[in-house]
This record gives sequence, C-alpha cells and structure tokens, in this order.
Amino acid sequence: MDIVTSIQDMKTRSAGLRSGERSIALVPTMGFLHEGHLSLIETAKGLADCVVVSIFVNPTQFAPSEDFTSYPRDRERDEALCREAGVEIVFHPEAEEMYPRNYSTYVSEETLSKTLCGVSRPHHFRGVTTVVAKLFNIVRPKVAVFGQKDAQQAAVLRKMAADLHMDVEIAVAPTVREKDGLAMSSRNTYLSTGQREEAAIIPRALETARSMVEGGMRSTDRVMAEVTHLLATKRRVRVIYVAIVDRDTMEAMREVVPGRSLLAVAAWVDEVRLIDNLLF
Ligand code: AMP
Repeated sequence: MDIVTSIQDMKTRSAGLRSGERSIALVPTMGFLHEGHLSLIETAKGLADCVVVSIFVNPTQFAPSEDFTSYPRDRERDEALCREAGVEIVFHPEAEEMYPRNYSTYVSEETLSKTLCGVSRPHHFRGVTTVVAKLFNIVRPKVAVFGQKDAQQAAVLRKMAADLHMDVEIAVAPTVREKDGLAMSSRNTYLSTGQREEAAIIPRALETARSMVEGGMRSTDRVMAEVTHLLATKRRVRVIYVAIVDRDTMEAMREVVPGRSLLAVAAWVDEVRLIDNLLF
C-alpha cells in the first residue's frame, strides 16, 4: 500500500492505474477509521480494480464554532487499518495544498443541501461538495463510495455529480452499527459512558418508527411525533430535527411511502452532535 500526500503524485498514480486499465474506487473519509469506513472499503473492492482511501479533515465543512481542531485523528492506526483492508493507496493531502492562501472557488448544491443538516450547518455541504469535487478531479475514480449514515450528504453528492456531468458513479453502503444499534461515528469517541447510554435512544426511536410503519402507519406527523417523544425521554438529548423526507430530493413528505421515504434525525447529546436515519 502506498501513502500519497502530494496532489501531483496522486494524479500521476491515478493516470498510471487508468492507463493500465485498472479502474479506481474512491472512499473519501476524514480518518479515525471504524468498521463503518471499513465496510465502505469492502464495498469499493467489489466495484473497481483498486481502492483509494482519502483521509482529510476538511476545514471548509466545519463552522468556526465546530470541532475541526478537536476532531479525532490517528494517522498510523488509519494507515494500518487500510493496509489490512487491502487498500492500494491512502491519499493524505495537506490542507495547505488543498486550500492555498489565495483559494477562492467553491462548489455549492443549492436545493437538497438547504434542509435538514443544512439549516443548522449552513456552510457544511458547500465544504463537502467542494472537497469531494476536488478529490474527484485529483483521483479520477470510476466510482466513489459513501455511507448511508450520512444520507443527505450522499444525496447532495449524487446531485452534484449529475448536475456537473461528472464521470463518476456514486455508490452508497449501509450504516454499520454498534451492538446496541448506535450508528458508528468517529464522533462517538467524544461520548462519556453516561452520554453513550443515552445516545442509544436514537436507534431505538428509529426502530420504533420502523415498527409503526411496518404495522401500517403512514402519517409522517404521527411517526415523527413518536420519535421526538422518545428522544425527549433522555435528559441529555436535545432534538435538532426529526424529519421524514423523500430520499432523493430531501423534500418533506406528508405520508410515508415505502421505498421512497427517509426518516432522518439529528440530536445533541450534551455537546456532541449525532445524526442517524432509516429508509422505509
Ligand atoms: P467521515 O469520516 O465521518 O467523514 O465518513 C466518511 C464516510 O464514511 C462517509 O461516506 C460516511 O457516510 C461513511 N460512514 C461514516 N460512518 C458510517 C457508518 N456507521 N456506517 C457506514 N458508513 C459510514
């Protein structure tokens, strides 16, 4: 496995692979890898001849008040996990090269990214679309793999790729969960034992919603009210949003339509912001 930090080196490696008729699957990450990321790598292996994992804590997707500086980082462990997982190249660019002093170009999706997380994090998706567009230009993958855990992110990136005629397929892999159902996230390391216990209400509330819908409930108001109520039973949990939306457009739905609806939740557990979702 090779570790590449310079953008030019990455472009050269990518061109070499493509000229040897080897297709590339890209897995963009911010590092501090867990089994969720590893499952994306497994999916990626099945979709192309070689896997490139990018590790970059992208400053432009964090607001000044957010956790950019404290975001967990462990480069050696990440590289060891990638090596074990059969990754061909880890691309580890430097922030100074990705965003030099005179940097001034951004990619912005204007519709899907304005709802849900876009309300409380107004500049977040612009940072995500910008960095992913840059990674696509540098790595030139045939396919890029993202996690269902960040459902809105995947929908926004799919829209960006379609709108900008990008020659890349967007694949989405299922959410990997802890034993008690909590979606794996690098940010889970911020949780104390007490917070961690209360955070488990999030997947439990989603499972209750699933049972309601499987029992025939179609009123999105009723399902959202129950999820909100369950989250409110925990002292440390504060709801940011609970929404049922069309999984492609992120538009609110009045009725649950199995096969089309997405239940998305964001909540604070004290000062830790967690998101999760469920496809009906
Ligand atoms: P991050 O490093 O948190 O930016 O995530 C990198 C990629 O991993 C994104 O496509 C995420 O959606 C995906 N991901 C994060 N957590 C999980 C999870 N628990 N299950 C599946 N994919 C995940």
